[in-house]
Amino acid sequence: MGIPRFLNVWGTHQFWVGFFNALGVGKIVFSSETSEEQYREYGKGRITMDSCYPVKALAGHMGELLHRDINLLFVPMIYSLPSFLKGHVVDTLSCTRVMMSVENLKAGFLREKDEFSQRGIKFVSPFVPFAEPEILPKYLWESLKEYIPGLSLEETAKAVKEGFKALDTFEGKMREKSLEIMKWCVKNKRPALLVLARPYHMDPGIGHEIDGEFQPYGYPVLWYNYLPLHDWLLDWLFGDEIRAGIIKSPFDISDVWTSSYSSNTNEIIWGAKFAARFPWITGVIRLSSYECGMDQPTFTPVQKIVESSGTLFFKFGELDETKPAGSVKIRVETIVYYLEKYSQEIVRKKLIRLKPVPSELLT
Ligand code: SF4
Repeated sequence: MGIPRFLNVWGTHQFWVGFFNALGVGKIVFSSETSEEQYREYGKGRITMDSCYPVKALAGHMGELLHRDINLLFVPMIYSLPSFLKGHVVDTLSCTRVMMSVENLKAGFLREKDEFSQRGIKFVSPFVPFAEPEILPKYLWESLKEYIPGLSLEETAKAVKEGFKALDTFEGKMREKSLEIMKWCVKNKRPALLVLARPYHMDPGIGHEIDGEFQPYGYPVLWYNYLPLHDWLLDWLFGDEIRAGIIKSPFDISDVWTSSYSSNTNEIIWGAKFAARFPWITGVIRLSSYECGMDQPTFTPVQKIVESSGTLFFKFGELDETKPAGSVKIRVETIVYYLEKYSQEIVRKKLIRLKPVPSELLT
């Protein structure tokens, strides 16, 4: 089975591994990370609409998998996402371009001849409402039963549970790792950076590895979607605002963002709030892709939330297929200059606004 390493698969791949392992489908092959070569060789000419680069790149991933040793190509049409904010925000939908892109790109591989059947590969693209786990098994079963002989709805439901379990375990490990880094920052009086982006900006071909550029300078980089969520930590950062009735829970973003429909957007806004409060995050790096309609309305609120706390804010917008290595390097050097100059003062000022540092952070 082949699964493209694209868009929302970046945030949910562990679910798919857990799900298909539970069904015993055999080997899962993920496509390579996005690259210009991948798109040029396998994706060019497949796009039938004008779209942002992350969507365009999917053509290369699908095309690459058609040349691998697989007999089923699985490209989920993810409608809503599992989110740690669910229950605290209005909705957790995914970007509509992401969902629609699958059918659109499929058409690109059928236009001249049916490239799937020519290679003996079946194409499956189920509708995936992650935010409604009770109906998710039905959608997956409906689209997979034809290709997995004897598959029952009950079996699919059990596999969905395994998928969520695998995703939880993975995220739990990542959050623990982030906490470890944060404790290191406290102990060593070193600041960290937080990245606010879409999960697929971790893909070197989409995010151009900008986050990694800061590490040689000794700045650990955290991603908002894997921040630790321990009660003691959230109470330290958000407790006073809850007790004052400003927000209902630590995950409530209604004080700064009322259009809480898109999952990634909600999490980015929440990440900005976290960064504004956590003393040792002294800089935020915002990444966004060229032509991203979903990110556009969030630019100003995110910047305001971060900067109103004195935290430094830097944006790399309009990323596309061209990696501007030289200019990224120069900008990173400038950002590092500001971080070195102002970080200790930022930490000091942010600490004044909070109660004493919880003992859990000092261990
Ligand atoms: S979130 Fe933005 S960049 Fe990503 S697929 Fe949607 S429109 Fe494109």
